[in-house]
Amino acid sequence: MKKDDCIFCKIAGGEIPSKTIYEDELFRVILDLGPATKGHALIIPKEHADNLFELPTEIAAKVLPTAQKVAVMMKDKLHCDGLNLVQNNGEIAGQTVMHFHMHMIPRYESDGQEIGWIAGKPSQEELEAIKEQITD
Ligand code: 5GP
Ligand code: ZN
Repeated sequence: MKKDDCIFCKIAGGEIPSKTIYEDELFRVILDLGPATKGHALIIPKEHADNLFELPTEIAAKVLPTAQKVAVMMKDKLHCDGLNLVQNNGEIAGQTVMHFHMHMIPRYESDGQEIGWIAGKPSQEELEAIKEQITD
C-alpha cells in the first residue's frame, strides 16, 4: 500500500523521478541526493512500511538478496574497496524519512568517511544481564 504524503512512496512508484540503478517488482534502488560517498544508494521497497518493525517479513527476506545484487554492481562498476549497509529505524536512530530504506554506502580507500559508534566497555555481568533481559 502507498501512503499519500510519503516522498519515498512517490519515488518508489516512479511519480517523482530519481536516479534508479536497479528496479524489480518489489524494490527501487536509487542514488541518495546527499551521498556519503560516490554511489551511495538507497534500497526502497515499493510497498510502504515506516520501518523494520513494520516491514512485512516476506519483503524483509528479499532486502539482503537485493543488497547483494547491487553490491556486486558497485564492486564491478565503481570498483569500491568496501561497503557499509546502514539501516536506521526511528528518529533516535537517525531515521529522517519514515519509509523503510537501507543505505548502501560504497567505501573507497581514503574516502574520509567515518561510519560508526563509540564502543562501550561492559563487564561480563552486565552482558549477562542484558542477554537475560532479551532472551527471557
Ligand atoms: P535516513 O536518515 O532516513 O536513514 O536517510 C534518508 C536519506 O534519504 C538521506 O541520506 C537523504 O539524503 C536521502 N533523501 C532524502 N530525500 C531524498 C530524495 O528526495 N531523493 C533522494 N534520492 N534521496 C533523498
Ligand atoms: Zn512510503
